[in-house]
Amino acid sequence: MTRETSFLFTDAPEEDKYSVCVHCGFCLEVCPTYQELGDENHSPRGRVLLIREAAEGELPLDDSVIDPVFTCLDCRACETVCPSGVQVGSLIETARGQVYAAKPPTGKAGLLHRLFLRGVFTHPKRLQSVGKLIRFYQKSGLRTIARNTGALRLLPKGAREMEAVLPQIPEASALQSLPERMSASGTRKGTGALFTGCVMDIFFSNINEATARVAVKNGLDVVVPQEQVCCGALQIHAGDREQARKLARHNIDVFLESDADYIIINAAGCGAALKEYADLFRDDRIYEQRAHQFSAKVRDISELLVEIGFETPTGRVERTVTYHDACHLCHAQGIRSQPRQLLHSIPGLQLVDLPDSERCCGSAGIYNLTHPEMAGALLERKMDDIPERADAVVMGNPGCMMQIRLGVHKRGRSLNVLHTVELLDQAYGEEVSPRG
Ligand code: SF4
Ligand code: SF4
Repeated sequence: MTRETSFLFTDAPEEDKYSVCVHCGFCLEVCPTYQELGDENHSPRGRVLLIREAAEGELPLDDSVIDPVFTCLDCRACETVCPSGVQVGSLIETARGQVYAAKPPTGKAGLLHRLFLRGVFTHPKRLQSVGKLIRFYQKSGLRTIARNTGALRLLPKGAREMEAVLPQIPEASALQSLPERMSASGTRKGTGALFTGCVMDIFFSNINEATARVAVKNGLDVVVPQEQVCCGALQIHAGDREQARKLARHNIDVFLESDADYIIINAAGCGAALKEYADLFRDDRIYEQRAHQFSAKVRDISELLVEIGFETPTGRVERTVTYHDACHLCHAQGIRSQPRQLLHSIPGLQLVDLPDSERCCGSAGIYNLTHPEMAGALLERKMDDIPERADAVVMGNPGCMMQIRLGVHKRGRSLNVLHTVELLDQAYGEEVSPRG
């Protein structure tokens, strides 16, 4: 007699993905949660087995499955070492989709989800308004009052910590400040449509602006489609795949309409989601095909610059920096050498090794808010590894930037947290024109 599956909804974890695990255990030693907890259920092998047993009806969809599935960072370090090519990320994300559909979040978690992941992040205008509110809080003196009166103690610990390290919010997002079209300088190598993202564009719009300048400098016409929305990565991580599909459909339509040769992204988490849009449309042949068409154009900015042949900067940046590999850049997109190549090309810049640079810093989307203890332990490890002689730590993901800013703040270290493209942009900016 065949058992009923515990995954009752469409878009469930696929048998051809979990059945290829051969239980070899090569993944155990790279899994951050297994390293911390030493519990097989919190290892990649354990999670794949739990998902398989739930899929085959041997386990109900209860906390014995839900907890390990949601404690996973979705960092994909296991995929890098897995000899069988098990797509653990996809299995985790689809399993979370089943949990979300069967037991939508309630109480405080449900409220936060509806408010932010559905209500704010999905609407660029609302997100820009939130950015303005935070800017007002930072600029008006309210922040000083909140800090001096102890009012911040009313916030949960994770939110309180993040408040302490929020960057100064720029006056306008890049979606608002950049022209809709910029022309390439020098020999034209194509057109890139800039994906500005949500977190990146509110907290680090200067990095989006630097990305556009660097792309133009390297021969790309840059367009900034005004109708774009959040990529949906945070919703995918939370299991809200229906909402993610709505965002993905919208972005696919907007960016394919722009007819650009490339879709440029500078945030690792968003880049991975954009490249994997087709995984959301396994039951929709038309959008599955359009998603493939869309994803074929997506490039991380470092990947694109190396691919089209970037201009070696001549301006000097006298700094000693180290490079942290964002999980969704190295493990999910296989991008490791390109950011280093860009950094090595900058005159005056010294790049020193960061031990275990591919180990997760604990950011993982909103993981640092949902699992502050695990995220905090991983951040401590990361901070221990950052060499003393580095004056900046460089990476390609806004979530990691926020998390490592928190680590710097906690340790009281004098260390800048930068995006790769900021340094390249600075080097180009330091160039002396041939006419003096
Ligand atoms: S390395 Fe891959 S095949 Fe081996 S146990 Fe881990 S997930 Fe399974
Ligand atoms: S994605 Fe990361 S946390 Fe999750 S099982 Fe794989 S290595 Fe462990």
